[in-house]
Amino acid sequence: MSKPKIAIAGAGIGGIVAALSLLQRGFDVDVYEQAPELRELGAGLQMSANGTRVLIALGLRDAIEPIACVPEGKEVRLYSTGQTWKLFDLGQASVERYGAPYWMVHRGDVHTILVDALEAAKPGALHLNHKLVDFEQSDVGVTMSFENQPAATADVLIGADGVHSRVRQALFGDLPALFTGVAAWRGLVPMDQLPKHLQRLVGSNWVGPGGHVITYPLRAGKLLNFVAAIERDNWAVESWTERGTREECKADLAGWHEDVQAMVDNIEVPYKWALLGRDPLPQWTVGRVTMLGDACHPTLPMLAQGANMAIEDGMVLARCIEADKDDLPAALKRFERARIERTSQIVRRSNEAAKRFHNPALADPAGAEAYVNREWAPEKVEGNYGWLFEYDALTVSI
Ligand SMILES: Cc1cc2nc3c(=O)[nH]c(=O)nc-3n(C[C@H](O)[C@H](O)[C@H](O)COP(=O)(O)OP(=O)(O)OC[C@H]3O[C@@H](n4cnc5c(N)ncnc54)[C@H](O)[C@@H]3O)c2cc1C
Repeated sequence: MSKPKIAIAGAGIGGIVAALSLLQRGFDVDVYEQAPELRELGAGLQMSANGTRVLIALGLRDAIEPIACVPEGKEVRLYSTGQTWKLFDLGQASVERYGAPYWMVHRGDVHTILVDALEAAKPGALHLNHKLVDFEQSDVGVTMSFENQPAATADVLIGADGVHSRVRQALFGDLPALFTGVAAWRGLVPMDQLPKHLQRLVGSNWVGPGGHVITYPLRAGKLLNFVAAIERDNWAVESWTERGTREECKADLAGWHEDVQAMVDNIEVPYKWALLGRDPLPQWTVGRVTMLGDACHPTLPMLAQGANMAIEDGMVLARCIEADKDDLPAALKRFERARIERTSQIVRRSNEAAKRFHNPALADPAGAEAYVNREWAPEKVEGNYGWLFEYDALTVSI
């Protein structure tokens, strides 16, 4: 078989990166997306070197750089006093150390660039308004059925259909999701409405007992992305579009530093989102069907690796299909073997990071200083992040 036909369910970041990586290697790809139109959804994403090196290899550097923010670095700040510690340098330091830049981007901006690149690589590859409802596989292929659309066939099906994946449910049943007791507030703040000292190209991780706040600049520093994760037991809806109010957000952050209050006061629309935890899956593939991205390894956002993992998956999958193009079930198994250990580790370590960010030791400033000095010591920071950023999906053994 010289040119297998590959179907991807889901045109999120993972699905489109997989499609571009496959098209770059000469395979034929169709992407089926449930949404009738693609709108600018979501807010900030942090793309570390492990993700950006793949986007650069796909020829997207020139398109993304103008909409990305290249931060100088990241810092840790204490929720009460605002005391600040360096977390790590980024900018040129990321390129020198990990071989690729660190970009802070608006999800909608990057998604638009990916969709345009897909249309350029194969016009008509993206089929909107195609919600996958079921599929059947045989020894020779997969037949997919969609809501209100004719069925389609392919040699393999990749479920890139996100955290509530239909493909995962059909292969393995429902994956239990447990509310972590942490709810997140998300929003965008126009940078020019903030006090001058907050208008910086720096990412901040504010840590406190029972919660943390992540902020970073987007769109060349015009916007600040704001996420506050607060331990709270009365909000359990997992959604990207559920609105809340500034007052409710402020009540959750009572007692936090005035810089945090200034950000909340200027959030355009606060969205709320319950963090649900899921254990890593032991298997992703059955015959001619596999999954990638949030469909098979949904994660908490504490290490900012959800989108980066999906991007890595897309490139590694394409390399595996290229390596085993005459035996596609073997290619999908190869992909699973190459990826499952790393992604499971990231899911587990993201769960653990919440304990560090929300530790009760952060309650009083003196105890907090000792705790931060210990937990964010340079060798610990390198141990927590180095293995994430240095991974190279283009060359890693498969
Ligand atoms: C609307 C939205 C907003 C987001 N905002 C943020 C954010 O602000 N910050 C952040 O860190 N992460 C955000 N994320 C999550 C982040 O994009 C993902 O964690 C990461 O990029 C992994 O991507 P993915 O491609 O695996 O899944 P996703 O990005 O979730 O993409 C899955 C795609 O599959 C489609 N789909 C689902 N079911 C079906 C079906 N049955 N048939 C066909 N298509 C289907 C969905 O419509 C979606 O386009 C958002 C995700 C979404 C969907």
